[in-house]
Amino acid sequence: MSAADCVFCRIVAGEIACLKVFEDADTLAFLDIGPLAEGHTLVIPRQHYERIEQMPPDLLGRIMSPIPRLVRAVMAATGTDACNVLANTGAAAGQVVMHVHIHIIPRRSGDGLGYRWPAGKYPPGRGEEVARQIVLAL
Ligand code: AMP
Repeated sequence: MSAADCVFCRIVAGEIACLKVFEDADTLAFLDIGPLAEGHTLVIPRQHYERIEQMPPDLLGRIMSPIPRLVRAVMAATGTDACNVLANTGAAAGQVVMHVHIHIIPRRSGDGLGYRWPAGKYPPGRGEEVARQIVLAL
């Protein structure tokens, strides 16, 4: 499965070059062309899925399984001991390329990267209600 106008499908097809660091039957990993830090790596399924929740769980498992090794390698190569591993999912969450990808972003203290993370607090009873809604939706 591929999408003709998808940049990551074109990388998988070899139509667009990438700096590949890992591949297996299901997975390709390559350097992000616009790195937030040296070594910023993307891990993608070869098959085209727009969003993580659309993937068959076993395929998602297979593309996640090289992540520990890749994280160790990215940190070793960049001399870091921290990284963000994340998937922007949906435009409101910052997803620009609509082909599932996991970012591995090496981090150093004081590097100036980071999220706004304005941690809130549930009013009494609200957390229980939200948890109940999630459980019902599962
Ligand atoms: P996101 O905002 O999570 O969709 O991130 C998409 C990422 O893909 C960005 O960090 C881009 O720099 C990266 N990207 C886009 N095109 C390419 C490309 N041809 N090769 C490598 N990375 C790319």
